[in-house]
Amino acid sequence: MTNLKNEVQYVKGVGPARAKSLNKLGIFTLEDLITYYPRDYEDRSLIKPIANVQDGEKCSIEAVAVSSVNLRMLGRYKSIEKLMVRDESDTCMITWFNQPYIKTQIKRGEKYRFFGKMTVKGGIKELNSPVFDVIEKNNNTGKIIPVYPLIYEIKANAIRKVIQNGLTLAGQLDEIMPKYILDKYKLIGYDEAIKQIHFPNDFESFRKARRRLVFDELLTMQLGLLKLRGENDKQIKGIKYSSNVNMSDVINDLPFKLTRAQLNVLEDINADMEKEKPMNRLLQGDVGSGKTIVAMIAAYKAVKSGYQVAVLAPTMILAKQHLANFEKILGQYGIKCEGLVGGMTAKQKRLALERIEKGEVDIVIGTHALLEENVVFNKLGFVVTDEQHRFGVKQRSSIVAKGENPDVLVMTATPIPRTLALILYGDLDISIIDELPPNRKHVDTFAVSRKLETRINEFVKKEIDQGRQCYVVCPLVEESDDPEAPKLKSAVELAEKYKNEIFKDYKVEVLHGKMKSKEKDEIMEKFKNGEIDILVSTTVIEVGVDVPNASLMIIENAERFGLAQLHQLRGRVGRGEYKSYCILKCNGGNDLIRERMEIMTKTDNGFVIAEKDLELRGSGDFFGTKQHGIPEFKIANLFQDMEILKEVQALAVQIIDDDLYLQKEQNKLLNKLVEKNFSSKAELTI
Ligand code: ADP
Ligand code: MG
Repeated sequence: MTNLKNEVQYVKGVGPARAKSLNKLGIFTLEDLITYYPRDYEDRSLIKPIANVQDGEKCSIEAVAVSSVNLRMLGRYKSIEKLMVRDESDTCMITWFNQPYIKTQIKRGEKYRFFGKMTVKGGIKELNSPVFDVIEKNNNTGKIIPVYPLIYEIKANAIRKVIQNGLTLAGQLDEIMPKYILDKYKLIGYDEAIKQIHFPNDFESFRKARRRLVFDELLTMQLGLLKLRGENDKQIKGIKYSSNVNMSDVINDLPFKLTRAQLNVLEDINADMEKEKPMNRLLQGDVGSGKTIVAMIAAYKAVKSGYQVAVLAPTMILAKQHLANFEKILGQYGIKCEGLVGGMTAKQKRLALERIEKGEVDIVIGTHALLEENVVFNKLGFVVTDEQHRFGVKQRSSIVAKGENPDVLVMTATPIPRTLALILYGDLDISIIDELPPNRKHVDTFAVSRKLETRINEFVKKEIDQGRQCYVVCPLVEESDDPEAPKLKSAVELAEKYKNEIFKDYKVEVLHGKMKSKEKDEIMEKFKNGEIDILVSTTVIEVGVDVPNASLMIIENAERFGLAQLHQLRGRVGRGEYKSYCILKCNGGNDLIRERMEIMTKTDNGFVIAEKDLELRGSGDFFGTKQHGIPEFKIANLFQDMEILKEVQALAVQIIDDDLYLQKEQNKLLNKLVEKNFSSKAELTI
């Protein structure tokens, strides 16, 4: 076996220029090359009788050249080549363009295999620009041919050839998985899998190769996650909350009835709290599904059992919002809440810290400030983190470490499909609030093109004149040589245009990620207080801020966003008593864009949207995977490979339970895989 870390330039057919092109595809080493998997295959293995081929069909035929190739020059460089061929069933015409050398390659009376697209017009069959081989050879026909993701500098045939050469150079590949796993799951060897994934003998071999490689990829990921988590929470003994403190004390006093889903979730949480093992539960629920109230009720139980509660929010404005809500609901039970946010004076902060340390405060709500070393709790027993994707693993463990193995509730409004949640949250228990409170308003959603711009602007003015407010969200504009890029609206530019031209009689402000968090909070505060009519921003407003008076959400270049993200954004409106709207402005429109926008206009169920998104886009670029620090998959597709995922999940749990650090002899190879592919650099979020 050749060292797979060798540069790709050692492969036959790869010079400096081609190496550069390959680099653009992320291929630097021999290993990168042979794990650059096809995105599709063309089956050229099945030979069809000419008579059976339909119009428009791509097919392989085996036929005898009835004539020699007829060459017609059209000017100096252009030519048409024509050939009549025949098999037992029928005859057909073959046409090539600008390939005069074919005349010397095909001999009258000889049999060849052709692969190309057939047209049938008025009973006349014509095969267009086919590739061909003499019968004994299988270079371009007679087999399943891989189709690779390409860039324009590299031709399809060229990359096939280079990969073929790479495989030859690599030679016999070492096995990378323990034998006991291969045997148990009936997986084919690594060497065979890599070879067959590129040049499968048949579809059965392809299926086996793919299964093997998907298995590797998912297992590595899953082991990596479980190992990390296992290392993180080795402590087992937590707090056993008393069953004498009843959540129903609060539930019965609420001004509204909890939904069935909320009650179920509270039951899960209550059961967890009364167990000695620390709770590690993820609470998923669409925006506005009422997660916060659930967290409050759980916090009540913790406080009334004699413990303190920490609530971690991603932004100052959210922390303040939570503080007000917690005080409103829990204040009546004598529970004391304290905010801890950046921007407090030194004295305020010192006093707050003292109260927290002395245990005079029951619930502490804050931003990252909560994580600082000088925050010392008296008896921290329950931790809530809101909108978890803003916090990394390390941050979570640093707050957890301030308590005595506290119970942890992680809340997220990102609608993660089950399949993906399994990967992202490994061994976390998951509860879902899958129903909205009955009084929730539907947000009318429209997908529109640029043409309607003026009408939309009029509509915005009308809403504002009636006292409402409007969000306008632009995609992030990255530096790029993409010719499409300049057409994208950048938040800053758009805000300027609104301020100075279209909405010059209104109060327009801009909000984006490059601003200081203090500035951002100030702008958000102003918007909340109704001092801004139109807030133009990037996706920084995604996280759950409540501005009930905002009734209009406009999303620029909506085609650039993931559906799950669009849904999150849309959740910013429809939070008050006013009829609300979401307008998705699209640039250009292929079928996929149309289909995606249609989903948005037809449903407001976040989970349905997330599943659809995953289905349409594959898991590779599913919104959130990048944010969650999960490396993208080379071959696995979480939607398609759910069955394998389940197998892998069970296996990974078994392995890690038995050998957390993967140090046993039989798991040495697994450890190597995990170390190599599951970079701990990835900032995991739970
Ligand atoms: P989330 O955090 O899931 O986005 P919130 O907890 O902020 O949602 O809830 C949004 C609003 O709905 C809050 O004002 C809350 O008091 C209210 N609410 C929560 N549960 C219910 C319910 N079952 N019925 C009516 N209103 C509810
Ligand atoms: Mg919320």
